[in-house]
Amino acid sequence: VPLHELLFAELGAHARHTALVDGATGRSISYGELAEMVDRVAAALAARGVGRGDVVAVLGPNIPHYAVVLHGVLRAGATATTINALYTAEEIAGQLADSGARLVFTVSPFLERVTAAADSTGVREIVLMDSADPDPDPDPDPASDRAAGDADTARAAGHTPLSDLLAHDGPPPDVVIDPATDVAVLPYSSGTTGRAKGVRLTHRNLVANLVQCQAVIPVTDRTRVLAVLPFFHIYGMQVTMNHALYNRGTVVTLPRFDLAEFLRVIAEHRTDRVYVAPPVVVALAKHPAVADADLSALEVLFSGAAPLDAELAASVRARLGCRVRQGYGMTELSPVSHAIPGDRDDIPPGTVGLMLPNMTAKLVDPATGEEVGPGVPGELLLRGPNVMAGYLNDEAATEAAFDDEGFLRTGDVAVVDGQGCFSIVDRVKELIKYKGYQVPPAELEALLLTHPGIADAAVVGVPDPEGGEAPKAFVVRQAGAGELTAEDIMAYVAARVAPHKKVRAVAFVDAVPKSPSGKILRRALRAGEEAAAA
Ligand code: ATP
Ligand code: MG
Repeated sequence: VPLHELLFAELGAHARHTALVDGATGRSISYGELAEMVDRVAAALAARGVGRGDVVAVLGPNIPHYAVVLHGVLRAGATATTINALYTAEEIAGQLADSGARLVFTVSPFLERVTAAADSTGVREIVLMDSADPDPDPDPDPASDRAAGDADTARAAGHTPLSDLLAHDGPPPDVVIDPATDVAVLPYSSGTTGRAKGVRLTHRNLVANLVQCQAVIPVTDRTRVLAVLPFFHIYGMQVTMNHALYNRGTVVTLPRFDLAEFLRVIAEHRTDRVYVAPPVVVALAKHPAVADADLSALEVLFSGAAPLDAELAASVRARLGCRVRQGYGMTELSPVSHAIPGDRDDIPPGTVGLMLPNMTAKLVDPATGEEVGPGVPGELLLRGPNVMAGYLNDEAATEAAFDDEGFLRTGDVAVVDGQGCFSIVDRVKELIKYKGYQVPPAELEALLLTHPGIADAAVVGVPDPEGGEAPKAFVVRQAGAGELTAEDIMAYVAARVAPHKKVRAVAFVDAVPKSPSGKILRRALRAGEEAAAA
């Protein structure tokens, strides 16, 4: 079925149930209201000639109207391409041009970047999602993402307030789509390893993954999810938003991660489930403010998008008093392929758990292509109904992504145990080769984080006269934790790992560069090293 049918058909008594709450203002939208608004946006888009085969861009922070417009676009039969909220005007222009978007939904505080980007592309209309409230915030904070622009100002500037689309009173369009081939969303991969790629995900891909997730980490209509992971990234869009909506849970949105706000919303809105990436787990494990927070509502913390170490998982579980579950996925998988089931306390922390139903895996030696058995690390290849249709405008990359049996090459090294429980080692490309030994930087980063004097850390391979390549640590000192030298750090690691894994250089930094989806940008660190060497 098309995604919107799964989400909004047959609401029954849930029409009056709360679908979305704006965590910043407390305003809420019921399922009935959401379905109605989605229909109106779709009808207004259809009246503009937007339908099957057209691409519409969405660029904004996590607010309830993000869900309204995303599903309005899909309901109209069109494809939504979601844009990273931190992109520069130039990067936005790149995605608008690559995807061929004709219309952009955004918010007033992003308008400067969006108009600069739209000028050079085929965009014909900009719709402001925050010019929608019939009673705008009487005292908006002009510095915040939430400062609502009003409808007249939007019109005067040549843009369309969302309220105009929501006032559309024609019937919703009668579009027939093919769920197996019509591309529903076109998110871009995080660009951690190179250029961000447009990932073509069909309605069937998205629906399959929601059903797969429900089998392993179920949501009910009593579940209250804190949605702080950005909706533009597939993890935030599918796992926090769509999975909850599909099962009639309540989604509480937060426009950006701020620890105090995050803790306040959990306490005030009684959210029992949060999905985060490891940087947030680090903050929750280490920040003093967490000790005073009321986290009694929180039942389970899910971490994905980057490696979560067993010790970090255990310490955050003890501190928060909730279950901690790790999952693994990628944009190309819509996005989840592995997770620790909600009810399985026996699965070791630090692993990514079991493969979701309806998927098949292979682990192959990256050098020879030969399959390897349990206990032996190999590149993870996956097949299933949630695997993407392909990359946009990149036949060669699409071709290279699949093997001759149609398995997607994840680019990640994994190990499976005899019980079918998977662990992710690191990306194939990130493995550091010291004298022919392979050193996964993720393992060293996890070890560094166990040092009380280290607030954050990243490891990359740098040229080494003896080993060819050797691990170098970039370390953020924990404030107030006393003196910490490079020698202390190298000794700490050397006492705990095999000799070939020793950290052989250390640099102190103010922050570790990370993507908004929570990944360490090792590429940026390496570029800095090269610049310094030159
Ligand atoms: P790009 O493909 O553009 O370089 P990206 O791979 O970071 O960027 P995403 O699709 O957002 O883009 O991320 C998927 C990747 O994130 C996976 O291939 C894997 O390397 C990493 N990842 C996701 N979950 C986990 C996890 N639980 N443990 C370790 N790595 C993870
Ligand atoms: Mg990738």
